[in-house]
Amino acid sequence: MRVVYSREDESHLKSKEKEWVAIMEWMYRSTRNAANRVTASQAILQGLAEDGGLYVPEQIPALDLPLAALGEMNYHEVAYAVLSRFLTDYTEDELKYCIRSAYDQKFDTEEIVPIRKADGSFYLELFHGATIAFKDMALSILPYLMTTAAKKNHEDKEIVILTATSGDTGKAALAGFADVPGTRIIVFYPKDGVSAVQEKQMVTQKGANTCVIGIRGNFDDAQSGVKRIFGDEALRKELAEAGFCFSSANSINIGRLVPQIVYYVYAYGRLLAKGELQAGEAMNVVVPTGNFGNILAAFYAKQMGIPVGKLICASNENKVLYDFFQTGVYDRNRAFHLTTSPSMDILISSNLERLIYRLAGEDAKKNAELMQQLASTGRYEITDEMRDNLQDFAGGYATEEETAEEIRTMYEKTGYVLDTHTAVASYVYRQWKEQNHPTAPAVIASTASPFKFARSVMSAIDAKYAGMEDFALIDELSRIAHVPVPKAVEEIRNAPVLHDKVIEIGEMPDAVKAFLKINR
Ligand SMILES: *Cc1c(COP(=O)(O)O)cnc(C)c1O
Repeated sequence: MRVVYSREDESHLKSKEKEWVAIMEWMYRSTRNAANRVTASQAILQGLAEDGGLYVPEQIPALDLPLAALGEMNYHEVAYAVLSRFLTDYTEDELKYCIRSAYDQKFDTEEIVPIRKADGSFYLELFHGATIAFKDMALSILPYLMTTAAKKNHEDKEIVILTATSGDTGKAALAGFADVPGTRIIVFYPKDGVSAVQEKQMVTQKGANTCVIGIRGNFDDAQSGVKRIFGDEALRKELAEAGFCFSSANSINIGRLVPQIVYYVYAYGRLLAKGELQAGEAMNVVVPTGNFGNILAAFYAKQMGIPVGKLICASNENKVLYDFFQTGVYDRNRAFHLTTSPSMDILISSNLERLIYRLAGEDAKKNAELMQQLASTGRYEITDEMRDNLQDFAGGYATEEETAEEIRTMYEKTGYVLDTHTAVASYVYRQWKEQNHPTAPAVIASTASPFKFARSVMSAIDAKYAGMEDFALIDELSRIAHVPVPKAVEEIRNAPVLHDKVIEIGEMPDAVKAFLKINR
């Protein structure tokens, strides 16, 4: 941390008053090399640190507001309160411009994030943005944060966003970056690992700066391939000579994570406003988890001072995180399952590194050793001392049958239709509740609209839907849930396919060069 004067404010102040406008400026550090320090805007521009680490703030800022005030604030106000405390080298005008541009009519409700109470829990609906999954919460603002960062840092190269997707990030990033001047975006998705709606959303993407490619492999292959490209110095040089630089829209980018803290702070405010909580009382948070970004944001909200009780990490059958919380051993050497919650079909949860770094006492060397073990053996074990610092977390998982059962039970009991990912969290919470008898209310992160996974959702509700075609199912879902078909789904009903390339994992670097028209 260092203290600086806010230059924008200085001009209209007398010199004596200037002392009082001292604001904290946080620096960000790589989790693998303490000497690699950058500002917030530089961290966002780079995405991944060149040493392979992830940028983390040197300290989590306190949300120095009376909690009761949160009950009075709308989404934009909460977003400013959080972002201004983390992204300290952006000016007030810059942040407000980014927030205003991101959280507008792209969302189908003015609340941005409505909360639905069902069966005693609070479902935080994070799927009202352009692509009807929670990735919109961060990816509608990231292009603004990034292009602002480019201006601030006098970056004149064109930014190439490289993204690996398990289905939702890809479309949300495409929607955010399509036709944004000074940027190009390339998305790699597992050809057989996404839902029909997810794939159609991506391959119909318009915009001359967009490129969508299927790979013959799973999400981990795609993510590792992207990380390898980031680490390829020769390729980076070649790109720089052609006027390009890489960045990332995956949650390894701190610019994804910080906007995700906002809705946990906002949720606390809404529960206060509804009288479901008194200021200071705890809420538990349940998150369907894949890459560990969403739940890490909830952890950061807690570090800022939001009274979060337990952070309940819900996994599907790819329960590598559940096992980690049980045993302290992270082991990706296991069968990979394709499930009905594909956005959680992940065995290498990238953002866990940010938590490991913290558990290791912010020791970059220790963290780098563990990550090296993960890369070479697929496994690492944390010390008992580190495990003692995991008390905030609880883990659970749901099998495919349990996930389907949860969708059916919730629908029959309350009429509320959950998507498959939210159902994993909902089931895990139901189990946890039976064992722990909590008094605190639970906020369940609802990460996708059921329309995005209509086939799995409808088959869970009734086997009779099995033979129906995709869009007929969508219409039927709309009818039984009493929810209109979202615009994002209507748009792709008859849209032409614009991207049909499918490649092997090893061909990823060449595909990047081909799209950018760079030849050796
Ligand atoms: C990405 C995603 C998740 C997993 O979130 P992480 O931040 O990767 O843990 C869960 N559900 C849905 C619908 C998603 O798109």
